[in-house]
Amino acid sequence: MRDTVASIETFIINIPRDVPYLGAARSGEEANQFGYLVRKDNRTLYPTTDKSVIVKVTTAQGRVGWGETYGICAPRVVCVLIEELLAPIVAGRDPFDVQVIWEDLYDLMRVRGYHSGFYLDALAGIDIALWDLCGKIADQPLHKLLGGARRDTVPAYVSGLPKPTLPDRIALAKEWMAKGFNAFKIHAVMSADSIVADFEALRAELGPDVDLMVDLHWMFTPAEAISLIRALEPYRLALVEAPCKPEDVQGLAQIARASSIPIAAGEEWRTVFDARARLELGAVSILQPEMGHKGVTQFMRMARLGEAYHARIMPHATIGTGIFMAASLHAAATIQNLPYHEYQPSIFDRNTKLLKGGMTCDKGQFTVPQGPGHGVEPDDSIWQYVVDQ
Ligand code: MG
Repeated sequence: MRDTVASIETFIINIPRDVPYLGAARSGEEANQFGYLVRKDNRTLYPTTDKSVIVKVTTAQGRVGWGETYGICAPRVVCVLIEELLAPIVAGRDPFDVQVIWEDLYDLMRVRGYHSGFYLDALAGIDIALWDLCGKIADQPLHKLLGGARRDTVPAYVSGLPKPTLPDRIALAKEWMAKGFNAFKIHAVMSADSIVADFEALRAELGPDVDLMVDLHWMFTPAEAISLIRALEPYRLALVEAPCKPEDVQGLAQIARASSIPIAAGEEWRTVFDARARLELGAVSILQPEMGHKGVTQFMRMARLGEAYHARIMPHATIGTGIFMAASLHAAATIQNLPYHEYQPSIFDRNTKLLKGGMTCDKGQFTVPQGPGHGVEPDDSIWQYVVDQ
């Protein structure tokens, strides 16, 4: 007998941090009364804790699928969308109709302009939980449902070297190299005044065989970005990420035409339509889908479209408990042209201890969780961090 969705619940998780994401707050970046601070260089709001939203879908036969979505800012918004708008529509549906369900949920609000943002995050959380249920019902890991794994482990690049001085950042990179990691991305929002000098020193100190990348955090005009990329060319970067404002699609294409370094983008996109607009213009050659924003359905559609344009896929890794990270690793295992998955040590190493299922990142490689579905579920220890809604 077919199993069907009986209920959907949401849980806001709030895990304290000693140091905010991206590094200690600088002068003028003090947290407000709700625990958010604004990074001066890209004028973007960040939480000082690790916030996330876990989605629990229970079936009529008592099976449980776990999803998670992006909850770092105002997570209650996503919970209201899921519980009030989406859960009644999904109730009674077969989890194996997951892609049709995503399309039905998207249709509910598309003519009102909800093509992105919180609404699509809510869809992502449900989508991941439904895919998890499909795996559990079929007793297969998620990557089998997606067409099969190309690799048992997924290569990781270390994202950020969150130290205040350049010598400290170089020393930290060398510590990672001693542990078997060979690829690093610098977050320019923490060192915007010294990007070129940083890469000159990193290349000189770390040698020719390390992959170096820079995330420009949408900070520059196209002309500024082109000039900066020219200055970075001698240091042979593997990619430049998010050089200009996210909605400046023509500007991104202008940068890509002028750049000898591959342009990467995509963490903030929600759907394959966002990817299509950039791919058609040749604005990106590396897609960075974020599972927490997209869910499995849109992540895979985006990846497949990227493949049709011969783009590479390098999934993004944001703040979360690790449930959407597990789904992202399964998806990453299936994609052919995937050099790396992002690794955020300060998030992954700590928060995945709150999950059961065994997901590690060691010697430059993620393990893909085994077991049916995405293979992880909350440990009892996680519930101490649940916030009243
Ligand atoms: Mg980024």
